[in-house]
Parts: sequence; C-alpha cells; structure tokens
Amino acid sequence: MAKRDYYEVLGVNRDASEEDIKKAYRKLAMKHHPDRNPDNPKAEEHFKEAKEAYEILSDAQKRGAYDQYGHAGVDPSAAGGPGGFGGGGFGDFGDAFGDIFGDMFGRRGGAGAQGGQRGADLRYNLEITLEEACAGTEQKIRIPVYVACTDCSGSGAKKGSSPVTCGMCHGHGQVRMQQGFFTVQQTCPTCHGSGKQIKDPCGKCHGQGRVRDEKTLSAKIPAGVDTGDRIRLSGEGEAGQMGAPSGDLYIEIHVKTHAIFSRDGANLSCEVPISFVTACLGGEIEVPTLDGKVLLKIPAETQTGKSFRLRGKGVKPVRGGAVGDLICKVQIETPVNLTAEQKTLVENLGESLSNSGKHHSPQESSWLDSLKHFFTKG
Ligand SMILES: [Zn+2]
Ligand SMILES: [Zn+2]
Repeated sequence: MAKRDYYEVLGVNRDASEEDIKKAYRKLAMKHHPDRNPDNPKAEEHFKEAKEAYEILSDAQKRGAYDQYGHAGVDPSAAGGPGGFGGGGFGDFGDAFGDIFGDMFGRRGGAGAQGGQRGADLRYNLEITLEEACAGTEQKIRIPVYVACTDCSGSGAKKGSSPVTCGMCHGHGQVRMQQGFFTVQQTCPTCHGSGKQIKDPCGKCHGQGRVRDEKTLSAKIPAGVDTGDRIRLSGEGEAGQMGAPSGDLYIEIHVKTHAIFSRDGANLSCEVPISFVTACLGGEIEVPTLDGKVLLKIPAETQTGKSFRLRGKGVKPVRGGAVGDLICKVQIETPVNLTAEQKTLVENLGESLSNSGKHHSPQESSWLDSLKHFFTKG
C-alpha cells in the first residue's frame, strides 16, 4: 500500500509550524489512541500512521529530508521506526510519544514488553568553580543507585529458575475490567504491570531484580555551562526492575561564587581599584582575566565607577554564540597614611585647583547646581 503524505496524515499545511504539527498530532493520537479504541485495528493503523508522520515532521532534519525527497528521504524503520505494539502492552512508545503524553497517560516504562518498570531518573547537584565552568571539566561523582542484581542477572528469579508469564493478565501487564457499558483497562494487580510472575524469588534482591549500590561515574562537563544547566547521562540513573531499561542521570550545575568575577550570561565583570594619580593622569593597569593578566589603558581624568569593556574576555556560551566580554569597573582609591609632606602637597594642590578659576570637579558642580534648584523651588 502506498504511503500517504505525512502532511496529509496530520492534516496540516506544508509550512505548518512545529507547534501546529504537535497540536495536530496530539489531536489525532488522542482520537485513535489504542486505550480508547480497544480491539480496533483501524484506529491502531491511524494511530501508527500519525505517529510516524509526527516523528518525521517534528524533527527539523528529517522534515527537511522528507520535504526534499519524500518518503524515500526518510526511512522510519532505520530511525527507530513507527514501532509496533509488542508484547501486548501499549507501553512501547517512542520518545516523540513520551514527550507529549508522558504526563497524560503516565509513564508505563515498557510494561509487558520489557517485563518491569523503567528505573527512576536521578538528579545530582554538582558544584564547580567558575574556572571549571568556563573551561569545562571532568568530574568523578559518586551516586547511590539501584543496579541490576548480579545473582539473578536482573530477572528477580532464583538462579536456575525464570519468571513465568502472569496468569492473571497472560503477560499483557494490563487487564480489562467491565464497568457497566465501559471496558476499563487497568494495570494488572497481580504482576503490577510487568506481565511476569516470580514463583521462586532471588534471595539477594528479593525478586526485585535490582539492589541498592553506589557507583562512581566520570562526568564530562562542557565549557561554558552555568548554574541551572543540566547534563543528561543517558541510562546512568537507577536500574529498571526485572531487566527494564535504566533511568537517566541529570547533573545539575551550580557554579560557586568567585572571589573576583561575577557572571551574567556570557559576560564577566569585576571591580578594579586604581590610584588617585592614575585616575588623574591616566596610565596602564593590570587586570585579571580567566586566562591570565592583561593590560588595561586608563585614560586621564577617569571618574570612579567607570566601566571598561574587554571584548572576548568573557565566557564562551555552552550553547554556542559569541564569546562574552569582561567588564572592569574602576574604583578610585583615596590615598591613606599620608606623611606631613604629602599632606602639604595635597593642600597645595587643593589651593591651586580652587584658585585656577577652571572647572575641576564635573560631578560636584552639577550636584551643586541641583542643590540650588532644590532650594529655590522650595
Ligand atoms: Zn536477584
Ligand atoms: Zn499480570
């Protein structure tokens, strides 16, 4: 049978947005979902068709290939495929499905097909320094996990025996209950959805197929990460029950406060003290950057609080884009511990400034002006 056009399947235009495609698929999938249409092969056919169309059109790369070459450009069987409903359960959905329906139908984690519940996702909070965040790092982390039981190879059944098909649901993991006119599908109460029963449980894991343990992982943290970023280590979460897939491990980054720099996205900023003399006459000062010191030119007559931007001395963002800048804000220091001679020099300077008849304090004079306005108004 010739395949229908994917856009036609979803009932959207060829220029439909990602959101439109998602919406259209969601509507179709809800309508034809096997849970709502038990024993209806036509609905299942529609459901599979919509799922396949969505899997292609929701992926920019595959959609491009499809637009250009049609069905020949995309081979769904190679890309994980539209999938069947193996094992009698309906838990065997691809990522595209889980993405949309994860919250609605709950996660069934391959019940029936896999024999147990998928392991839980784990989150690990990792504290790193700003230098590590900017340059990238590799960290050894120890996490508590459930791992597959070695005695029973994760099956949960005692050595030499194996789990048998559940007698209640015949391995489907789901049972149908008649309630008035309606047939309701429920997780099998005997096997809790696994489709299997263990007659002779393994002594080490008590039939769970997994035991608590600790493992050490090496986590590669890419350069440019920031607080709140998450790195997913696929399959490094808790082991599933009875051979079901493991969950994922999410490493959440927390960047420690730095003594010198503060970070705002790709930009870094710091405060740099400069002397009164440098501020007056100008000069060069050394400022720190993440990769060593650089010279910064201070123009004459620099006021305190002025910021200087060092282009490209910030952070290279982890998701790509331009390297940020380093913003140095100068703070002018009033000299302390003056000798008698130095005090006289400052006094002489003060006198000279007030006698020269020129503007020497731009901020002070504008401040005095404001004061005048303030009092004449009142
Ligand atoms: Zn065991
Ligand atoms: Zn059962």
